[in-house]
Amino acid sequence: MHIVFIGPPGAGKGTQCKRLAAALGIPQLSTGEMLRNVKQQDSALARWVGSHLDTGELAPDHLVMRIVASRLAEADCRQGCLLDGFPRTLVQAQSLDELLQQRGQQLDRVLELRVPPDILKERLLKRAELERRGDDTFATILARLQIYETQTAPLLDYYRERNLLTTIDGTGSPEQVFETIRRLLTQHCSDH
Ligand code: AMP
Repeated sequence: MHIVFIGPPGAGKGTQCKRLAAALGIPQLSTGEMLRNVKQQDSALARWVGSHLDTGELAPDHLVMRIVASRLAEADCRQGCLLDGFPRTLVQAQSLDELLQQRGQQLDRVLELRVPPDILKERLLKRAELERRGDDTFATILARLQIYETQTAPLLDYYRERNLLTTIDGTGSPEQVFETIRRLLTQHCSDH
């Protein structure tokens, strides 16, 4: 089973993905986390990746695809995985399709977590205080929301046209949102 989580920063992708991964017993792949790990290293690549993360810009597609392809090839992903924050561009979405096809696998569902911009800004500022993530400054938050709208939101149509998209109201408590996800996935599985 392969499920993609799409949503703007602060929508709760990481939180929900972690819960669902535990419930389904398959790994959660967060490209944001993978890129932050690259940034920790002491190399020219790390500094280059870091410069993207710090400004909120997307890392280049070819780099992200290389990281994802090698992670998907690991043994624990054989039964599938949950993709958190990936794909974020059309190029990544098309490359993911090819990658899964080469492996004889397919994407089962795309979950969009929808949250209004005001609530997102509030959540991100709170997270900035709690987690001290370098990219949760106010200027970067605005840039990341803008980048989501221009580069990632077009993916919603891409997946809607292929009947893969389920939109979820992400404004409730983490427990409420998770219940909705569970209900919609169960419903979807019994319909197919
Ligand atoms: P996240 O933890 O998902 O909010 O991602 C944090 C940052 O990592 C983003 O603002 C981007 O700079 C970078 N990033 C994460 N996933 C991707 C991706 N699929 N493509 C490009 N950049 C990404």
